[in-house]
Amino acid sequence: MTMPLPSQAQVVVIGGGVIGTSVAYHLAKLGWTDVVLLEQGQLSCGTTWHAAGLVGQLRSTQGGTRLVQYSTELYRELESETGLATGYKQCGGVTVARTQARMTQLRRTAATAAAFGLECELLRPAQAADRYPVMRTDDLVGAIWLPGDGKANPTDLTASLARGARRGGARIFERTRALGIGVRDGRVTGVTTDAGDIAAEVVVNCAGQWAKQVGALAGVNVPLHSAEHFYVVTDPIDGVHTDLPVLRDPDGYTYFKEEVGGLVVGGFEPEAKPWVAPDRIPYPFEFKLLDEDWDHFTVLMENALLRIPALHTIGIKKFYNGPESFTPDNQFILGEAPEVRNFFVAAGLNSVGIACAGGAGRALAEWIVGGGPTMDLTAVDIRRFAAFNGNNQWLHDRVAEILGLHYEIPWPNREMRTARPFRRSPVYHLLREANADFGSRMGWERANFFAPPGEKAEIEYSWGKQNWLPWSAAEQRATREAVAVFDQTSFSKFLLTGPDAESVLQWLCTADAAVPPGRTVYTGMLNERGTYESDVTLTRLSAQEYLIVSSSATTVRDADHIRRRIRPDQRATLADVTSQYAVFGVMGPRSRDLLSRLTRADLRNEAHPFGTSREIDLGYATVRATRITYVGELGWELYVPAEFAVGVYEDLMRAGADLGVRNAGYYAIESLRLEKGYRAFGRELTPDYNPVEAGLLFTCKLATDIPFLGREAVEKAKAGGARNRLVSFAVGSEDPMLWGGELVLRDGVAAGQVTSGAWGETLGRCAGLAYLWDPDGGPIDTRWIGEGSYAVSVGGDVYPVTVSTKPPYDPAGHKIRA
Ligand SMILES: Cc1cc2nc3c(=O)[nH]c(=O)nc-3n(C[C@H](O)[C@H](O)[C@H](O)COP(=O)(O)OP(=O)(O)OC[C@H]3O[C@@H](n4cnc5c(N)ncnc54)[C@H](O)[C@@H]3O)c2cc1C
Repeated sequence: MTMPLPSQAQVVVIGGGVIGTSVAYHLAKLGWTDVVLLEQGQLSCGTTWHAAGLVGQLRSTQGGTRLVQYSTELYRELESETGLATGYKQCGGVTVARTQARMTQLRRTAATAAAFGLECELLRPAQAADRYPVMRTDDLVGAIWLPGDGKANPTDLTASLARGARRGGARIFERTRALGIGVRDGRVTGVTTDAGDIAAEVVVNCAGQWAKQVGALAGVNVPLHSAEHFYVVTDPIDGVHTDLPVLRDPDGYTYFKEEVGGLVVGGFEPEAKPWVAPDRIPYPFEFKLLDEDWDHFTVLMENALLRIPALHTIGIKKFYNGPESFTPDNQFILGEAPEVRNFFVAAGLNSVGIACAGGAGRALAEWIVGGGPTMDLTAVDIRRFAAFNGNNQWLHDRVAEILGLHYEIPWPNREMRTARPFRRSPVYHLLREANADFGSRMGWERANFFAPPGEKAEIEYSWGKQNWLPWSAAEQRATREAVAVFDQTSFSKFLLTGPDAESVLQWLCTADAAVPPGRTVYTGMLNERGTYESDVTLTRLSAQEYLIVSSSATTVRDADHIRRRIRPDQRATLADVTSQYAVFGVMGPRSRDLLSRLTRADLRNEAHPFGTSREIDLGYATVRATRITYVGELGWELYVPAEFAVGVYEDLMRAGADLGVRNAGYYAIESLRLEKGYRAFGRELTPDYNPVEAGLLFTCKLATDIPFLGREAVEKAKAGGARNRLVSFAVGSEDPMLWGGELVLRDGVAAGQVTSGAWGETLGRCAGLAYLWDPDGGPIDTRWIGEGSYAVSVGGDVYPVTVSTKPPYDPAGHKIRA
């Protein structure tokens, strides 16, 4: 007898693939048992059933790695709980390197694994051959061995999660399709299905490649697009057995996994084949594959034949071509949609859905039940995307690049090639004429550096000092010694307006927001756990109006964070004005001279001190000039109405010519801010760290009795002592190049990780910021920090570093107040 669809449930999960069942399972585990899961076909019939089942633990972020580590624990244990096997086998993984550059990546990987507490061993080619005898190794430079890697059977895993969810109380309805989503007053109310309506407090969109369609039913943007994804299964091969590890040969774009004595041979070709637009996916599409495409598969097959010579004489049993959804940045999409309260998404798994399902399902269930994430999920948070990321043509062109990223060398500063230029500042064409190389952030084209005339403005990727370093160094010198102009138009900008604007900010900000008009304040914004949700500068424009400025990548996230915390009784409205203003940072000891040539405003310290802001005339324009800096020099950020941007930029360059003014880009900013110890959201400031750990207690109004979000947690952290502590460091040698992610050793033992590293031209060596921790787990303080002797491991080579809680450049801040 079939169960009738209930008219009501606390949670409705849409989609019965590996993610949907994992979310339902973990909700039930957390005690939320009134869960209904809807699947339009049968469980796992979408993408899950034809996954190859690789479970690789090491991901690009620590958070991502933690999620997969949990997945492997779960898959190992699930059968004993549910009685249904997941097919999980911890067979280990070998990843081989054909080139020195790849080997450097693998060495860095090994160091990262050490920082993440993951077992990882470097192998010589002969040792790799011992682990994987059927492969050819004479062309290899080396390899790594990850004993924790494994493989699972995706259909069995889904069935096991589903049984676990049912046992916990969840009800699963197959052949039931969500057709509409109810939304009232910005909040989800339920789901309309082809079998009736269900009222629900929470709806979770786990609809895989259909998630964009399902999101649209609620007015929610879920930027993903399908691409065709391929593997073949071979006949049995001598020497291939069930304990054989998973083999990855990323220089040949391929992976190999044992299956019934043969091999699954698949891969991530550099140029993928986008499938139909998300709104054109046929229905029904159940347990379906796409047509074989041997032409497209050739690049993978040729490389597979090279690595596993036995394949020359072995037959192919089956060709799999299945669509999988990919996102614009190769990270999946998780979290509560900013458009609609209680509408959650877990989708766009970029071909690692089996590996991530356990961890992602648990993370989302905790988010739903607890009202917020319990760890740093910034990299996968749905709020990293804006409405413009939902453009299907743009997504189509972008996903062609995404699939191949899995096996491309993750070069430092690698920029996306496809679907660009996208979002342009008003002076984009002028910067291009000035020979800028552009990077992309939140869709914005941003100048990274300027190449001299006659040179190609392009990054030549490498792990060492890249080709642009001398050019960026010249920009750094100009900023420290003369004046430079930075186009920082991509900053996120908001106006918070209304009689209660001050009280909204007092609650949200660590710093005191009750400043007089014309004052600019740097502040953190925390969550209930006292860890960072954002860092911003506030400029009070008038009694009832603040300009809030934050980093380029966080526009949607910051707007959501603020809006959802304005109480119904508070009269305050937040408007995103990012696109209305260009921003030019005019930075350097001669910035005052330069600006004074264009304005009649008095810019001397007495009239316009650090931390103040006012409107000034500048040429024919009227701009807001804010005395603040992210590079550690005397300088002003100019907020310029977009239509005046070209004129202001031209005036600045003309008027500053004899002062040595130069264009400067984001790579120079990165170097300059690190010499000065300035933190960045997403690197040093994340939902995993609090102001005590970040060394930013001075930005917290603890000396007052003003309450603020996270205050109690910060006070507790202060009393208990920091478990991690952010420090500035400078490398003792000018040789190595640091990019962030490097392992820090204290007295020879792993005790930290670099969050950001860059060449500091003023110091003549690399500098950066790193979190330290006590390997014994105790709290750490400045004495503990001072007692250690430190080094960084750069691709396995160890260099001494000096470490301090003070920045190496201008620690007393004389320059910025000059
Ligand atoms: C060839 C290939 C190989 C792969 N290999 C691996 C691998 O080795 N390791 C790995 O980790 N990952 C791998 N993947 C990726 C993995 O398969 C996916 O990331 C994962 O299956 C995605 O799961 P999902 O639950 O998000 O999507 P799906 O499995 O597609 O589930 C979504 C479900 O939602 C249902 N649905 C959609 N709309 C509605 C609606 N309106 N109402 C009700 N139900 C709806 C669909 O029918 C579908 O069943 C591979 C993928 C492919 C294509």
